[in-house]
Amino acid sequence: FSSLLKFDLVSRYQAILFIFLFSVHTKMYPCSYQAPPCLANTYLFMVQARGIMLRENVKTIGHMIRLYTNKNTTLNGTDYPEGSNSSDYLIQTTTYLPENFTYSPYLPCPEKLPYMRGFLNVNVSEVSFDEIHHLFAKDVDIEPGGHWRPKDCKPRWKVAVLIPFRNRHEHLPIFFLHLIPVLQKQRLEFAFYVIEQTGTQPFNRAMLFNVGFKEAMKDSAWDCVIFHDVDHLPENDRNYYGCGEMPRHFAAKLDKYMYILPYKEFFGGVSGLTAEQFRKINGFPNAFWGWGGEDDDLWNRVHYAGYNVTRPEGDLGKYTSIPHHHRGEVQFLGRYKLLRYSKERQYIDGLNNLIYTPKILVDRLYTNISVNLMPELAPIEDY
Ligand code: UDP
Ligand code: MN
Repeated sequence: FSSLLKFDLVSRYQAILFIFLFSVHTKMYPCSYQAPPCLANTYLFMVQARGIMLRENVKTIGHMIRLYTNKNTTLNGTDYPEGSNSSDYLIQTTTYLPENFTYSPYLPCPEKLPYMRGFLNVNVSEVSFDEIHHLFAKDVDIEPGGHWRPKDCKPRWKVAVLIPFRNRHEHLPIFFLHLIPVLQKQRLEFAFYVIEQTGTQPFNRAMLFNVGFKEAMKDSAWDCVIFHDVDHLPENDRNYYGCGEMPRHFAAKLDKYMYILPYKEFFGGVSGLTAEQFRKINGFPNAFWGWGGEDDDLWNRVHYAGYNVTRPEGDLGKYTSIPHHHRGEVQFLGRYKLLRYSKERQYIDGLNNLIYTPKILVDRLYTNISVNLMPELAPIEDY
């Protein structure tokens, strides 16, 4: 962690300023009162990890302060950016169904089931694949690839969960152990696709999602696709993993960002689009090699297509992230330039210029799609 503390003076000054302002407004305390990850460490990490430049920092802090000072004027802490007119809000205010609710196999599963009790115990301690295989072996309804569907009602959404992956083996079993019960409680039909990048190129999260989308669709007619980092665990089982009329950003409040949306256009971590919405925006860009920017480009695509993004209400969007390092991973420095041309690039780089040769292995709990990604595999016409 020590390398994370090498800050220039400006960042340090901003961090201190930020902490001061926050301690005035919120119930958060400085490090000495709290077990790590505490406020200062988390913010230092956030600045370092995100590589946010001076100007963006000021913008972000300004936004956070506004968010907090306006807190009482928003609908019980809900953050729907851009005045979303989603009917979601109305749905969210209806109450959860009682325990004795009876289902019908012929009727759609409700979205607010009695099993969805709210806050979950999130366990990030290491667990082996053997252990979770043993645990889920009892559940005979889980089909190969982790494909599960409810029997007592008709699932409202058929959800493919896509997980971009390389060299984070210890995260996978923790992820499945946590997520499978949540999705079952939500009575969704689902399966998992782990898209693993082989070869030596920088990690390309976005291109992996495009590959995962195409492969998942060959497998089954999914109508909702969730783009899910392997290290993100929802803290609330009422964070419903179905899609909607608008693309959705699920991971609105991350523990490592002090449960604050880092910036309004943040679309990283966990997001979901209907297959139709994803096709309409031509998927993710393929040209983002290394860490950063691909989620912002997706945000731009979504907006150019005339969509808004919805987020879970209040604390429903809280996530715990499994701590990790960025050893040997590179930042994508070209991201700022590409982001300036999001609009022009949208229809020349995405689902439509992707070439790849996958190796597919169907495990009991997920389908593994491994691909050796290279820039030549997404040729771009001049623009
Ligand atoms: N990822 C991976 N191996 C890598 C880099 C990234 O599996 O070497 C995947 C993983 O699913 C991870 C996601 O890409 O959760 C986002 O990357 P990372 O966690 O490094 O981003 P950050 O947490 O810094 O935003
Ligand atoms: Mn991460």
